[in-house]
Amino acid sequence: MSKENKTPSPIQFDILEVTKYRNVTPGMRRISFKGCKAVYNNSLSPGSHLKVFIPRPGQQKPVLQIIGENGRVVHPADDQRATVRTYTLRNLNLENGEIDIDFVLHGDEGPASAWAEKARPGDFLGVAYREGLAQYNADWYLFAGDETALPAISAIIENLPASAKGTAFIEVANAGEEQQIITESGIEVNWLHRNGIPAGYGSKLSDAVLSVQLPDSTVKRYVWIAAEFVTIKELRNHFKETHQLDKTELHATAYWKLDMDEDKFHDLRHQQMAENNQ
Ligand SMILES: Cc1cc2nc3c(=O)[nH]c(=O)nc-3n(C[C@H](O)[C@H](O)[C@H](O)COP(=O)(O)OP(=O)(O)OC[C@H]3O[C@@H](n4cnc5c(N)ncnc54)[C@H](O)[C@@H]3O)c2cc1C
Repeated sequence: MSKENKTPSPIQFDILEVTKYRNVTPGMRRISFKGCKAVYNNSLSPGSHLKVFIPRPGQQKPVLQIIGENGRVVHPADDQRATVRTYTLRNLNLENGEIDIDFVLHGDEGPASAWAEKARPGDFLGVAYREGLAQYNADWYLFAGDETALPAISAIIENLPASAKGTAFIEVANAGEEQQIITESGIEVNWLHRNGIPAGYGSKLSDAVLSVQLPDSTVKRYVWIAAEFVTIKELRNHFKETHQLDKTELHATAYWKLDMDEDKFHDLRHQQMAENNQ
């Protein structure tokens, strides 16, 4: 297996405070936070996913779920519940005790994107995560994703050893959205530009990925893909059916779905992940 996780640890909830923000590119805002216990424990790998809890209008801090005595999640009352979304730990900075999350600025119809546009130092956000360190131990990798997957792909590639080889395809709006990925690995990063085509449309990412020749199964290989739902469905079927990759060689997750918010998309995504694990 290329990615090894220890036995799942209990869910950790923290209230984070914004310390600073900057646009990495015009469409990607990096927000730094203090208050994440995983920093003090150095117990979460950059690239891991987090649930974020966005305060409701009128709330200064989000009201978080708690874990009851029987170990089950207890939700706050409906009128207190935060909006929950899924993001990626981009950086864990041991020097200053902060973490970074990179938010795609895709407009204000999404509560998370809208929150990221307006967040200022002193604002609060909740997070939930399971502590655990991921290890990638393949020899050859294929990474593919759109900008929502860029924080995870960058964080994983940055930490791969010099012996790791492979290719990454990252689809972004245009050349101005490319980011620098500093790595000692031999992963060749290729940027694909939509150049006017809206996110979630077009087939540049699929076309590029479908043209890749995979090494045969004597090589320890790992395919990691995340993007809009339709692209992932096509690519996941391709790798399962054409290449017979199973979950030890394939991570394929839809990170968002056109015209559907995360509240509605969540169950569909988990159904797809369950199928992926079969
Ligand atoms: C494991 C995981 C990790 C993720 N990590 C990140 C991350 O680090 N950074 C990041 O920015 N996103 C990340 N995402 C994707 C993010 O969760 C979704 O984009 C989410 O829908 C954003 O919430 P929202 O409140 O802004 O929009 P929602 O309320 O969920 O959606 C509102 C509308 O916006 C559309 N929409 C959602 N996302 C986009 C987009 N990117 N571009 C254009 N339209 C969109 C929806 O189709 C819907 O019509 C991750 C998703 C997963 C599953």
